[in-house]
Amino acid sequence: MSTGLPESLDPWRAARSGLLLTGEVALNAFARLSDVIVRSAACTIVVQYQLQFERDRQGRFLLTGRIQTQLPLQCQRCFGVVDVAIDAPVQLALVKTEAAAEALPAALEPLLVNDDAVAPLLVIEDELLLALPIIARHHDDECEPPVAAVIHHSPHIEKIQKSAQSAPNPFAILRTLKSKPIPDDTE
Ligand SMILES: [Zn+2]
Repeated sequence: MSTGLPESLDPWRAARSGLLLTGEVALNAFARLSDVIVRSAACTIVVQYQLQFERDRQGRFLLTGRIQTQLPLQCQRCFGVVDVAIDAPVQLALVKTEAAAEALPAALEPLLVNDDAVAPLLVIEDELLLALPIIARHHDDECEPPVAAVIHHSPHIEKIQKSAQSAPNPFAILRTLKSKPIPDDTE
């Protein structure tokens, strides 16, 4: 599948020239994400990305930007599909060694570059995986189907059931109506 993104690029050169990558890519293009998302609900969803390679005043090589999408995840309460909106800022510093990574300020996450190559698609996928909620769940009243066990033990429901028993049975009324002779007005 063509994503419109270069499979791999030299990040140092990209930062020197201020390369900006921006566009959309299908959510199903991310192999590792497919284990987490509800695939059947993902086929029409796209990921919007904006990736800016640049150098800051300290001479650091940065990759900044933003990734936005909607991830169809499985609700951990009702097991239905819950759409989780993702809007993840990207604040990465390109480093060659673990020591350089540890020296970074807290606001910057290290992106360890091997062989002077970065795969933009993998960077986007890493950021999406990091942005996943720990537990995906609908809002309290949006789950489906309702949890029957909870309703069964509600004292409020028992009260309703009792009052329903003392009320006249609507089907009894229906029976009376049916047993009435239908007036014959054809003549
Ligand atoms: Zn739910």
